[in-house]
Amino acid sequence: AKELGKRNYVVFNIEMKKAVMEKAEIQNNLRKAIEFNEFVLHYQPQVEPHTGRVLGLEALIRWEKDNKLVPPNKFIGIAEETGLIVPIGDWVITTACAFLKKLHDLGYQELTMSVNISALQLQEDQFVDKVLKVLRDNNLDSGKLELEITETVLIEFLDAKISHVLDSLIENNIKISLDDFGLGYSSLNYIKQLPISTLKVDKSFIDDIQSAPESKNITGLIVTMAHQLGLKVVAEGVEKPEQREYLIKYDCDAIQGYLASKPLPEEEIIKVLNKNLL
Ligand code: C2E
Ligand code: CA
Ligand code: CA
Ligand code: CA
Repeated sequence: AKELGKRNYVVFNIEMKKAVMEKAEIQNNLRKAIEFNEFVLHYQPQVEPHTGRVLGLEALIRWEKDNKLVPPNKFIGIAEETGLIVPIGDWVITTACAFLKKLHDLGYQELTMSVNISALQLQEDQFVDKVLKVLRDNNLDSGKLELEITETVLIEFLDAKISHVLDSLIENNIKISLDDFGLGYSSLNYIKQLPISTLKVDKSFIDDIQSAPESKNITGLIVTMAHQLGLKVVAEGVEKPEQREYLIKYDCDAIQGYLASKPLPEEEIIKVLNKNLL
């Protein structure tokens, strides 16, 4: 038993060392990726449920590494742990807003842009000023920018400082949307107090529309409740026509998912903006 314990310890050590080295390597590569402009944004449409008309886009980052697209779940976590999410996040806001400006100039003036924001960005002193400057530089109506913050971040990190940041964003008419709603444990009472304008219902609830009987599905209840609180509702990860029908019935404001479109690069998203995607 003693032998085995020792061997396990060695294996554990090697594994740990490997993990640490991998992380350090990704961290190094991320630094270079910023420097050499290796990030790209793809955009996924948020569409009106009954018409499929494009109401807005969500910017989703990808890393172009050795001719492959690395998905965000492979690097956002490390970018957050190392603080690199701040310069990366700045790039995302700047790039997404410049693209939105281009689309407004093409005639899509009602289009909104949603950008994912990490806790660390909200904790930065200059965050609001930075965002306002990007809006000004592009001559954009601030009401067309929506910042997506996850339920977990809003609840775990909410302190006086972040609360103040959220308030100044709202004062400037920037919209805040609560991402991945339903994954955390926030009470409705709590949601009521947050300065948010949109609730994004997590894909897991949308998946349930298929599997659970109507009476057991709470997505409809969430939509109704959100509307009562004066919030807009976006359904995430809509893949099936039946899910769309259900969401139309409950008057959900927008749906986002493969049923309408996958996230697409700039040139391709431009081609579908004047189409009805459902
Ligand atoms: P999220 O904000 O919840 O974004 C939705 C994710 O669901 C995206 O994955 C999208 O491609 C995927 N998705 C959309 N429709 C469907 C569908 O119908 N079926 C399925 N199976 N998936 C669908 P993606 O692009 O891989 O992004 C993953 C996560 O990475 C995002 O989740 C977000 O938390 C984070 N992320 C992406 N871009 C950024 C960014 O610029 N900054 C930060 N901080 N996080 C980002
Ligand atoms: Ca999001
Ligand atoms: Ca989400
Ligand atoms: Ca998510």
